[in-house]
Amino acid sequence: MDVAYKNFFDGRGFPKFKNRSNFTSFTYVIGVKVQGNKIYLPKLGWMRFFNSRPIPDGFKIKAATIRKRQDGWYVSLRIEDRAVPDYIVKPFTEVNNIIGCDLGITKLVHLSDGYQIENPKFATNKKTKVTLKIRQRRVNRKAKGSKNRKKAATNVGKFHKKIADKRDCYQWYVANKIVSRNVDAIAIEDLNVSAMKRRCKPKVDEESGRFLKNGQSRKKGLNRSIFDASWGELVLKIDYLAAKHGKVVLKVSPKYTSQKCQNCGHVDASNRDGEKFICTQCGHFDHADINAAKNIRDRAYSIVRVDCPELKRPKQCKELSARPRGNRVEPGNPSNRDIKSVMS
Ligand SMILES: [Zn+2]
Repeated sequence: MDVAYKNFFDGRGFPKFKNRSNFTSFTYVIGVKVQGNKIYLPKLGWMRFFNSRPIPDGFKIKAATIRKRQDGWYVSLRIEDRAVPDYIVKPFTEVNNIIGCDLGITKLVHLSDGYQIENPKFATNKKTKVTLKIRQRRVNRKAKGSKNRKKAATNVGKFHKKIADKRDCYQWYVANKIVSRNVDAIAIEDLNVSAMKRRCKPKVDEESGRFLKNGQSRKKGLNRSIFDASWGELVLKIDYLAAKHGKVVLKVSPKYTSQKCQNCGHVDASNRDGEKFICTQCGHFDHADINAAKNIRDRAYSIVRVDCPELKRPKQCKELSARPRGNRVEPGNPSNRDIKSVMS
């Protein structure tokens, strides 16, 4: 409450009550049992569910999260078996070959060996956009607060879920493709995706005080494409699978990777001509994004070769721990960090 009001006086809007729809999930950490296609949830009892994958022998259920999505309720079980050893990640000294990945929009990933992975643009292709528009219009035409409006809104929600599911599935496929290459390490750009999606600063005409064009309407389309490509999610999946395969993920700074010449190292913005890369100094010719992927690979090589793993790590390189442990937060529920910041 205190924080909310403080934010309000700092100009962040009057505090709102939480809506019932803010809470879409809850977690059990004790007392969950599974038998065939039945699950026991404390206080709720036995209920039927679709058991999509059996729990392997020796694993214990540590937690169960019940989540409401657009088309029903989902349960995810966290299981543990202490007898299974942790994944061991290769030390830098054992890294001999690296593959560089350049993330893009026209193609989702360009690899330094010349391989390209398509970007299906699940949310930003024409067909999806039209369908979404039609379904959204059906909602807007219904009377506010009516049952039919709610039904139409659920329909939109289901469509969004379908897009998200498709993207998720495709990303696992892509991540698997990259990780299963015959290399020891994978080099990815360390992108600050949220900064890239930021809105353009408003431009104000000093005399009349009116807003001038700042390019935001043009950037909106790009932002949507960035959102649709969701590189951050893809990188998380690559991290996870690489750890599983015992491979190293190297995050390198993406600065000038698309402008630097592979051949002579000349950095110039005019090196790039759309998808083509032509060096203004030595005339080196390549596909622009594959040139970038090679630069990313070379940058990762310089991290591995120069740096001894026992000595201090370079700043731009974050090595992954064997088991990625993120603070996963359910939407609508306060995270530990939020609670801490309130209490302090
Ligand atoms: Zn050159």
